[in-house]
Amino acid sequence: MKTLRLILGDQLNIEHSWFTKTEESILYCLFEMRQETDYVRHHIQKVVGFFAAMRDFADQLKSKGHQVAYFKINDVNNTQKLSENLISLIHDYGVNRFEYLYPDEYRLDHELKEFCKKLQIETAAYDSEHFYTSRTELADFFKGKKQFLMENFYRYMRKKHDILIVMGQPEGGQWNYDKSNRKKWNGKETIPPYIKFDNNVSSIIKDIEEVGIDTLGIFKSKTFEYPVNKEQATEQLKYFYENLLVTFGDYQDAMDTNEVYLFHSRISFALNLKLLSPKEVVNTVIAYYRNHSDKIDISQVEGFVRQILGWREYMRGMYWHLMPKYKTLNHLNNKNQLPDFFWTGKTKMNCLSHSINNSLQNAYAHHIQRLMITGNYVLLTQIDPDQIDAWYLGIYIDAVEWVQLPNTRGMSQYADGGIIATKPYISSGAYINKMSNYCKGCHYDNKEKTSENACPFNSLYWNFLDEKRSYLKGNRRMGMMYSLLDKMDAVQLSKIKERATNIIQNPNEY
Ligand SMILES: Cc1cc2nc3c(=O)[nH]c(=O)nc-3n(C[C@H](O)[C@H](O)[C@H](O)COP(=O)(O)OP(=O)(O)OC[C@H]3O[C@@H](n4cnc5c(N)ncnc54)[C@H](O)[C@@H]3O)c2cc1C
Ligand code: SF4
Repeated sequence: MKTLRLILGDQLNIEHSWFTKTEESILYCLFEMRQETDYVRHHIQKVVGFFAAMRDFADQLKSKGHQVAYFKINDVNNTQKLSENLISLIHDYGVNRFEYLYPDEYRLDHELKEFCKKLQIETAAYDSEHFYTSRTELADFFKGKKQFLMENFYRYMRKKHDILIVMGQPEGGQWNYDKSNRKKWNGKETIPPYIKFDNNVSSIIKDIEEVGIDTLGIFKSKTFEYPVNKEQATEQLKYFYENLLVTFGDYQDAMDTNEVYLFHSRISFALNLKLLSPKEVVNTVIAYYRNHSDKIDISQVEGFVRQILGWREYMRGMYWHLMPKYKTLNHLNNKNQLPDFFWTGKTKMNCLSHSINNSLQNAYAHHIQRLMITGNYVLLTQIDPDQIDAWYLGIYIDAVEWVQLPNTRGMSQYADGGIIATKPYISSGAYINKMSNYCKGCHYDNKEKTSENACPFNSLYWNFLDEKRSYLKGNRRMGMMYSLLDKMDAVQLSKIKERATNIIQNPNEY
């Protein structure tokens, strides 16, 4: 009996029960494939990072005595397609049972199900043993409810897993300290230098160049800074709770021209490849807080736990509940083209220039840059959500469809008509000025609306509300904005709309 077990590039969980004992009869396989590198244009650091972590994982398995078939991107026997690589191994090794771990992406889940239907040998699929929830737990929780509020799900998760709960009540008296998570960073709290790893990836870069994968972004250092295995990921997590947790919550939404990461953990890459488990992240951070509760406030810890136990599990549950239709939704009927400057960072708008250049240089932007700078701009300028998804899915180191899609199409673009976000996340320049120092060095004037040097966000904001009135007027959370719009002088509104139209039609000139 020979069993073939597939490990996908984002299933690098060395603590999975599959690996507890070695067996001669089991062959593990991992493939670097054009099928995965080419479905969108990815950031060079993302492709390198996935391959580096996969190669490291295969080496770890081999050193533990497991049998491993690893296809590099330039191997001659690599067909570059998942099903075809599997078929060739099944034939070459006389395999009579095929096993895989449930993929987190709908696309691969569908492919593997179809593949197994056609196979003449036994097949089985297993849990990846990573998430707190099963694929359907969120849908079961919300069954019969009209609204899918993250906050309700989060409270259920806190209680179910007994996390920051004291005698059935939230520790500290509040479920959510979101309101104290909105401070502007003024440079008083120093940010320690961020942790980086010197992973030598020159041979991977050579392989990628040899086969000619079309990537985006910049890779200056040539050593890969993110963790590529469990050991490094654990070090990164430790660095976070020892140095950054103490002010994480306070500055979660802050942005600064000189700081790429501020107090963010940068663990999303490790988490999404399953180098780290969400349970271990939450438990370790809480354990550290317990030993340092004289220095660390509950609001910082709750703010962090909410991201992992709340948002991350919520997005996964929504993805599985709403796919495959979700990927096609365009509730606001947005059709404009993504401007060229999203690929170059060349724009006079300082906030966008910084957020896009961060993304191009580091394959990273934190959630407020993704939501309230780039996301806000593309929503206000009414860009086609398919183009937005392709950009977000390609550019970020942590972008895997199950988490990227609900965050982008739902949370950020309101393309689902309000299933994930109860109102569109839009703002004028005032919010950006409140949360960052971007406006100080900007070509545009944050206070102006219609003059030649007026901040583009100011006219785009009112124009959006006016143009999308038919979609949004029934939304109670938008009532105040519409009553302000209705009070606006008609001549002023017409000037605002004229400027907004010019920005939308000539985005690369701004
Ligand atoms: C438009 C948009 C697109 C996004 N695309 C992705 C994506 O492709 N992949 C991805 O992992 N996250 C995505 N996010 C969520 C968030 O921006 C990133 O998880 C975060 O910036 C990663 O950096 P960090 O590890 O330093 O996060 P921290 O701020 O330190 O947060 C800790 C962890 O919480 C989790 N988390 C925080 N917010 C979210 C969220 N909204 N959804 C799910 N998990 C969350 C992440 O695992 C993150 O590592 C997106 C957000 C927006 C608004
Ligand atoms: S003035 Fe407007 S465009 Fe410039 S940084 Fe501020 S919000 Fe962005």
